[in-house]
Amino acid sequence: MTADTSHDPKEVWKALLEGNARFAAGKPQRPNQDIERRQALTHGQSPRVCVFTCGDSRVPAEILFDQGLGDIFVVRTAGEVVDSGVMGSLEFAVLGLGVDVLVVLGHENCGAVGAARSVLDGAEVPTGHQRTLVEQITPSILESRSFGGDDSADYERHHAAAVVNKIMQISPAIKNAVDNGEVALVAARYRLSDGAVETVKTIGIDE
Ligand SMILES: [Zn+2]
Repeated sequence: MTADTSHDPKEVWKALLEGNARFAAGKPQRPNQDIERRQALTHGQSPRVCVFTCGDSRVPAEILFDQGLGDIFVVRTAGEVVDSGVMGSLEFAVLGLGVDVLVVLGHENCGAVGAARSVLDGAEVPTGHQRTLVEQITPSILESRSFGGDDSADYERHHAAAVVNKIMQISPAIKNAVDNGEVALVAARYRLSDGAVETVKTIGIDE
């Protein structure tokens, strides 16, 4: 994806899914990773996409979407839980960098979602700051269950969608950008097993 790529969120998301398809098929192009690209970006960046995903070592955004330097502004926390630093980073991506698409990417076999599920099923709440991971993910699982969700895949999908909703709720600036058609939001889930990204929910992308 380069600076002259379309700014239409639908096209931008499509290009990301095409990159993911290359990766999943074992045929990545590994674009924008050469010395020229690196040097061209020395004094600025204009990524078209922000990906907010889990810190899991198996979920590297640039690799699984087959992108390169300067292509994706990435924010990661375990279980893609939100705090003020995350929100500041996402607002910077949307308002400062002007990304066209903001993706919240959950994933298969997410340990943070699994830990929250275990607590709901009777395990002890983790101590220290890990507690916040469980506290932020359990509502997503309970909500998923209220809609009939009953396995990890359901919870992971529902959590990604819940984080999209949460971002809209706690950032008037991002909600405004969505309402004005300046950025689209996507909730998605990456499957470790076959490398594919499933689209869970989109806001601002015409189907
Ligand atoms: Zn995870």
